[in-house]
Amino acid sequence: MTYRITVVATGQELLYGTTVDTNSAFISSSFFGTNFSVISHISVGDEFNDLRRTIADAIDKSDVVITTGGLGPTDDDNTVRAMCDIFGLKETVHGDSLMKMRDRFERIGRKPYPTDEKMVSVPDGAFVLENTAGISPGFVIRSGEKCIASMPGVPREMRNMFESYLLPYLKENYVFSEGMRLSYRVTGIAESEINKRINDMNLHESISWGVSAKSSFSELTFIFSDVCSSAKSETDSMVKEKFGNVLLGDGFASPEDELVFMLKSEGLTISTAESCTGGLIGKRLTDISGVSDVYMGSVIAYSNAIKSRLLNVNEKTITEKGAVSHEVAEMMAEGLQRVFDTDISVSTTGIAGPGGGSDEKPVGTVYASIRFKNNTETKRLQFSGSRSHIRESTATAVFNILRDKISSNSADK
Ligand code: AMP
Ligand code: MG
Repeated sequence: MTYRITVVATGQELLYGTTVDTNSAFISSSFFGTNFSVISHISVGDEFNDLRRTIADAIDKSDVVITTGGLGPTDDDNTVRAMCDIFGLKETVHGDSLMKMRDRFERIGRKPYPTDEKMVSVPDGAFVLENTAGISPGFVIRSGEKCIASMPGVPREMRNMFESYLLPYLKENYVFSEGMRLSYRVTGIAESEINKRINDMNLHESISWGVSAKSSFSELTFIFSDVCSSAKSETDSMVKEKFGNVLLGDGFASPEDELVFMLKSEGLTISTAESCTGGLIGKRLTDISGVSDVYMGSVIAYSNAIKSRLLNVNEKTITEKGAVSHEVAEMMAEGLQRVFDTDISVSTTGIAGPGGGSDEKPVGTVYASIRFKNNTETKRLQFSGSRSHIRESTATAVFNILRDKISSNSADK
């Protein structure tokens, strides 16, 4: 059984853009991977008729509607009135909340306002959700099989109420299944390639999936509409077969994180000679604590003179082949090896742009060379986009090439 949820966030400030709707994101992420499937997020202002119509439409289209906001004392707080109007209920003061409010105001010496009671009013007969972080209670109205819940807009109050009262209420009153998703981190292949590999898996139509691009990997998620453990384990095996080593290992936050783990496990040291990445590879490696066991350091060989002087790159080769060339990348890695004497020496040289490209070597052309076990391998890579994107992509690609090399090296042993 799958329940369709609409989240309605209310408040004029959401439409002005002065407040970002974090409540809907929180609610959705709490249901992610369960049989409560969020079908839409709607933001609506405080005007009564707009609010009423939006909530009524959402109830028509969904099994569960969750609203946030509009439960306060001011004239623009209209959620209770809209709910009462939709369901033909009266507004009533919630006794416990009223006492709690009076207690609290007495303690801080605040004089009562006539509008205070509005803050603790709920639709008559609704199931009340306690507000442990504030004053306005939330509530749930049941209409046939449908469930309509309203919570405050203040994120802290909403979160407490959701976790302590609304979620337990739904678990108690509806079939609630968790663990209906599988997530993976895929690195080093384009989204269109991910799409192709998933199409090749011929997934059952009840399984939906999505990809979301992060900085150095893509998050790939499968959602199962039924808790069927065989569908999950079959999908898991297929993903592992189709994606193999482009999957990041469990628990690793980035390709470099897994790379450092692999270097440590294999007892390998590494150094870098960076031209177009200007130290970015070293920066991303040294962001990881404990990397000093394996990472010895870097030469940021940005100018040709430094490439020659520190890494012994032949000046004639630079003139003849260009600083961005297969030969220079290779000489940089080999020169670095002589200086640092690490198990692995890595170099990068490329055109990060936006200027400096040619027909033969357009912006985004990068050569990366890796010297490992007396063998130097150089790859030409091609990226596009901004200067910073090209540099980040180069670093990520280098980490992925190294992950591949080390895992095939340990498999050969
Ligand atoms: P309300 O309960 O509508 O009076 O909202 C109280 C305060 O909570 C607002 O002034 C906002 O700062 C904040 N708020 C309301 N709705 C949201 C939302 N959807 N996401 C994040 N903050 C919100
Ligand atoms: Mg409001």
